[in-house]
Amino acid sequence: MTASERLLRYVTFDTQSKEESETCPSTDKQKIFGAALVEEMLAMGIQDAYMDKDGYIYGTVPGDPSLPTIGLIAHMDTAPDASGANIQAKILPFDGSDLCLNQEKQIFLREQDYPILANSRGKHLIVTDGTTLLGADDKAGIAEILTAAEYLLNSKEKHATLRIGFTPDEEIGRGADRFNLKDFGADYAYTADGGTLGEIEYENFNGASATVEIAGLNIHPGSAKNKMVNSQLIAMEFQSMLPVHQRPEATEGYEGFVMLLAMEGQVEHTTLRYIIRDHDLEKFQQKKDLMAEIAAFLNRKYGEGTVKATIQDSYYNMREKVEPVMYVVERAMAAMERAGMTPRAVPIRGGTDGAHLSYQGLPCPNLCTGGENFHGRFEFIPVEDMEQCTRMLIEILTGVKV
Ligand SMILES: [Zn+2]
Repeated sequence: MTASERLLRYVTFDTQSKEESETCPSTDKQKIFGAALVEEMLAMGIQDAYMDKDGYIYGTVPGDPSLPTIGLIAHMDTAPDASGANIQAKILPFDGSDLCLNQEKQIFLREQDYPILANSRGKHLIVTDGTTLLGADDKAGIAEILTAAEYLLNSKEKHATLRIGFTPDEEIGRGADRFNLKDFGADYAYTADGGTLGEIEYENFNGASATVEIAGLNIHPGSAKNKMVNSQLIAMEFQSMLPVHQRPEATEGYEGFVMLLAMEGQVEHTTLRYIIRDHDLEKFQQKKDLMAEIAAFLNRKYGEGTVKATIQDSYYNMREKVEPVMYVVERAMAAMERAGMTPRAVPIRGGTDGAHLSYQGLPCPNLCTGGENFHGRFEFIPVEDMEQCTRMLIEILTGVKV
């Protein structure tokens, strides 16, 4: 089976994860997909494939013991940002003209809106009907890994031992939380969870989340003079003191940001939820410090206990852990070249399972899958790019002698 055929089957499973859930996996439906993957892995000859109680999938393609053991990792869940249910995926040839995703709703995928499409002229795109995400993030990674595994199982080529790991809940930042590193036993690994062909990522954001709780005091507005404290207005004041040029919509490349995720409030109580991101550890710290300073300032102004900012680190930049073992990156880049790509290291403006794993001792850069426009209704992936990414994975396991 080809990687794109696998993807088309996988996207029929709704595997959306859920931030508010405290279970692991966060949604039971991820286990239904997991069970289907284990069945498929066993059927192709991955004899030790299994799912653990937390919904993590593992399996091995044994190889030459004189070579390093290499892990390939992908995540099963899809982002909560857009619906992952009832996905109507189809393959459409693309020649540069507007692509109709949905005749009835008149939804088009246009190169003028997404210039990256120019790279895909002459290819066949897997797209949605414009109402859901596709879930190539990261089912394309799973499809490419299993297609590469199937190839290795049926080939006589000398190859490294492949350890496969599929995780739940990556999109809500928990993919690595219960990853069984001890039994995984890889020397190093790669997540197949990236986008554009040829991209390899070993620098990601440092990430934190902040919850700002603001206490107010309600009283009948007719007799509120000098008594009412409206927590919503203090919340607006808090937000107004954050730099306007450090918002996601104003940043790119190595520029970090603070993003207001959600606000909810009445007079008595308002909650602001933020995420904080920066590649640079010092600038990351400055952003967290600023939030704490604003809280302290407002407490001096309105009274102690008015504003409570709770800041928690989520993940760190893996660069520090990968740089000492740069041959891991070099191996992947050589494999990309052999698969006909032009390798390019780019900083991730996000986090990955690999960042967590790198900090736990498994160096784990992120590789392209070929997909674009992740987390949205215009997500797509070219069939041809999936084939090239599968080839890249095979080359990592076979072609390169490091
Ligand atoms: Zn992903």
